[in-house]
Amino acid sequence: MPQTSTAPAAGIQSPETPGPAPFESWGRYPTYSGKIVPLNWQGDFPAATAGIHNGALPVGMGRSYGDVCLLKDGNLLLTTGMNRLLDFDPATGLLTAESGITLAQILDFAVPRGFFLPVTPGTKYVTLGGAIANDIHGKNHHVAGTFGSHVTQFGLMRSDGTYRLCSPTENPDWYSATIGGLGLTGVIPWATLRMKPIVSRKIDYEGIQFHGIDEFLDLTRQSEKIEYTVSWVDCVSTGKNFARGVFMQGDHSSVPDELKPSPEPKLVFPFDAPGFALNAFTVSAFNTVFFHKQMKPRVTALQDYEPFFYPLDKVLHWNRLYGKSGLLQFQYAIPWDSAREGTIAILGEVAKSGLASFLAVLKAFGDVPSPGMMSFPQPGITLALDFPIKPNLSFPLFERLADMTRDYGGRLYPAKDAAMTAPQFQTFYPQWEQFARYRDPMLTSSFWERVTGDSPTL
Ligand SMILES: Cc1cc2nc3c(=O)[nH]c(=O)nc-3n(C[C@H](O)[C@H](O)[C@H](O)COP(=O)(O)OP(=O)(O)OC[C@H]3O[C@@H](n4cnc5c(N)ncnc54)[C@H](O)[C@@H]3O)c2cc1C
Repeated sequence: MPQTSTAPAAGIQSPETPGPAPFESWGRYPTYSGKIVPLNWQGDFPAATAGIHNGALPVGMGRSYGDVCLLKDGNLLLTTGMNRLLDFDPATGLLTAESGITLAQILDFAVPRGFFLPVTPGTKYVTLGGAIANDIHGKNHHVAGTFGSHVTQFGLMRSDGTYRLCSPTENPDWYSATIGGLGLTGVIPWATLRMKPIVSRKIDYEGIQFHGIDEFLDLTRQSEKIEYTVSWVDCVSTGKNFARGVFMQGDHSSVPDELKPSPEPKLVFPFDAPGFALNAFTVSAFNTVFFHKQMKPRVTALQDYEPFFYPLDKVLHWNRLYGKSGLLQFQYAIPWDSAREGTIAILGEVAKSGLASFLAVLKAFGDVPSPGMMSFPQPGITLALDFPIKPNLSFPLFERLADMTRDYGGRLYPAKDAAMTAPQFQTFYPQWEQFARYRDPMLTSSFWERVTGDSPTL
């Protein structure tokens, strides 16, 4: 396996006191201790869990924000030791690797050989297995669909010792249940991903200021053929600055250039910031600076892929900026019929709440069908917001925003969630009972138990 990129420690935090090692999700909320059971070889499961009666859950880098990667008082099957590259065919771009390999490790191997990930999220520190289990999306969703659309096959191991090869033609129902299956259908030991050819690390970038959702929608229509599009939106300002933002778009450069691996990240956020560090004032100042950082209405640049795709990875553990109480994310997808009205209403509600969101990301999802039964993306608008946790304020706001999402016909993203209620989840994902038939009886998560009231049936 490629060794060049040392991925930062996974969700595992070094314990200061003896006892079960805490495994944190990225939002650091909720905090649950679970026993960590490392899986270093594909054959370790199910033997490593023999005799356990309190449930288990495969986990990767813990880059999910909420509790899809947590299991209170259960066993976390840590897959990051299963990170070997198994096969690569430069003629087809097909790369096979164990599921605990990170996208950073795949990039270190593939970029110097002229290949890039077909779909990437906003951090490269996620595992192949985690990317499949949440069927993640990236800035090219409108042309490429979700990550799962590029996974040609994978293995699936169940706690009863059975093993299945899953692909669109082999065990297609298991393929569909496992992509976006939240780690509940079994452990994915390995997968094959179709990589895309590139000739340069560079992205032909263009940043365009917009003022309001209608200008955002105009830019979205004009950029249909551009591979990557995403927008930062100011969700604090009201009045004439309401929903102003920067529309960022780019394509891989077609001019051949040196394809070297990325340098190691050097900056680490060193401590938990005090609770007052992020407040309405600092966030409002950040939003104003970000908007004006792009001095001209339109800016073009030839940019390395690192700052284009992974600006936040530059500072490892930036989630500590939110202090020990952590952060919550809220991400919806509202279908086109009501996407404009829903987005204006939700941004209005956020601005009115005074609960500042530091990072607000707006994007149009395309209509490439997702292969997963439980996949989150659907054609329309998606908005992702980060909030520091303020117990008496954040949760009532989240409940209101989730209800508004439901009323506009949308749904929330489990990978980012720690707050949706069981009735909300079951409305967003009416197919959940059909999906539940594929759940491995040993596997469960705090998310699943919260949104279904279900528990392991051992
Ligand atoms: C800064 C940042 C930016 C992000 N940007 C995006 C984005 O743009 N788009 C997007 O879609 N997501 C985004 N995410 C979310 C992230 O991509 C997903 O939560 C991803 O699934 C995390 O992968 P992981 O390896 O950390 O898995 P974990 O968070 O540890 O686990 C995620 C899920 O995968 C399951 N799982 C893990 N490994 C296996 C396995 N081997 N077999 C079966 N199930 C398994 C777990 O049970 C769990 O349900 C972002 C997260 C961060 C922190």
